[in-house]
Amino acid sequence: MSARAALATALDRIERYDEDIGALLEVDAAGAAARAAELDRSESHGALHGMPFVVKANMCIEGRIASCGSRMLEGYRAPYTASAVQRLIDEGAVPIGIANMDEFAFGSSGENSSFGSTRNPWDLSRAPGGSSSGSAAAVAARMVPFALGSDTGGSVRQPAALCGVTGYKPTYGVVSRHGLIAFGSSLDAVGVLATSAADVERVLAVISGADERDATSALRAPFEPAPARTDLRGLRVGLPREYFPADLDGRVRQPLEQALDDLRRLGAELVELDLPTTRHAIAAYYVVATAEASSNLARYDGVRYGARIAGDGSLQGMFAATRGAAFGAEALRRILLGTYVLSSGYYDAWYLRALKVRRAILRDFQAAFERVDVLAAPTSPTPAFRLGEKLSDPLAMYLCDVLTVPTSLAGLPAISVPCGCAAEDGVELPVGLQLIGPAFEDARVLSVARCYQAATEHHRRLPPLVAGGVA
Ligand code: GLN
Repeated sequence: MSARAALATALDRIERYDEDIGALLEVDAAGAAARAAELDRSESHGALHGMPFVVKANMCIEGRIASCGSRMLEGYRAPYTASAVQRLIDEGAVPIGIANMDEFAFGSSGENSSFGSTRNPWDLSRAPGGSSSGSAAAVAARMVPFALGSDTGGSVRQPAALCGVTGYKPTYGVVSRHGLIAFGSSLDAVGVLATSAADVERVLAVISGADERDATSALRAPFEPAPARTDLRGLRVGLPREYFPADLDGRVRQPLEQALDDLRRLGAELVELDLPTTRHAIAAYYVVATAEASSNLARYDGVRYGARIAGDGSLQGMFAATRGAAFGAEALRRILLGTYVLSSGYYDAWYLRALKVRRAILRDFQAAFERVDVLAAPTSPTPAFRLGEKLSDPLAMYLCDVLTVPTSLAGLPAISVPCGCAAEDGVELPVGLQLIGPAFEDARVLSVARCYQAATEHHRRLPPLVAGGVA
């Protein structure tokens, strides 16, 4: 397909659906058209020739909005381009827009964006998940074949599950974080949202690999997909009991059990096991992640970036007035929490202890991977919830991540793939199957997902809103 034809399709769908969905903060139709024309004229075609994509608003593209979904950076335009995005551009992919997100990637519903909530394409009264809300919704509505997001504690996998798309968080360090605006530097990963694991692999092959601009980037060659597998014979799949509690929501349990049957039918051996530290993961995550966030957000003080409010005219007054007014409620909550757990006298009791729990969680996973090749679990404890439903209860919102944060704390690769739908009030709501692998076994996780998708159709289902209009 020519780059111009692919772009025309994407722009047409954005025009048709995005007024209702609100996935994108900015569309650069003119810039994309110029780039597409240039690509079509060139003799050599890159690996992703002409593929349009959107980028979460916490990743830099020179000259484009990088607001992080926050008033603090409203109107801020990136002075340079993130390494992952540059690699995509170099292989012929065409960035066409900036996707909405929870402010500074804090959230699980998209509702913490300062610029309005994105709506779930499957049911516009529901949340798309978060914090990569716009990226997931844009792919679900087939505006673009793929999008970049960021996953610190689940922000690619959880919205992928709630929007019925495939979402991948690579092993920490496999994709450069250069140009990803930091939330929790030891957890942050650039992730990919697409309509299949095979498409994730094509994108990951381009964006992965060592980058001298990111000191935490792994000194490894770019990702290469594993050969296609026609079945899963010989594969041992672990089912952590803690991820299948007796009171697991029936709307999630039913499609999950079907998916486990499918894995068995494909030849995999299913093994129940325990990851006992799982129950401490949310607590440890909200200590480590807020500690790092409070430190990373210290730079937004009205001096160099974005908003500045004079206050009483003193320097301290300007800092306080700017931060008090331009950060939203969730950002303020996290700065307070993070500053508290790092403060002298509390550091040992909270931050240091959370680091020990983090290490114990990693050891649990390592022990499990001596017995099994991958783990299978739900991605999210529930299907998409209604907009507004959890807004007044931050703890309920934090619990959305109970199944995704352990892997983030351990830095492991994990994917969410659609595995069916739950019917509720006459609408179908997608459910995600999560597959988790050992560190740097990205190719294994993705090849299992690819095999599952070759044998099932769930990832092909479209939200009713777009089903009529998309071939
Ligand atoms: N929802 C989680 C949080 O609010 C995860 C966010 C993320 O991965 N960016 O911290």
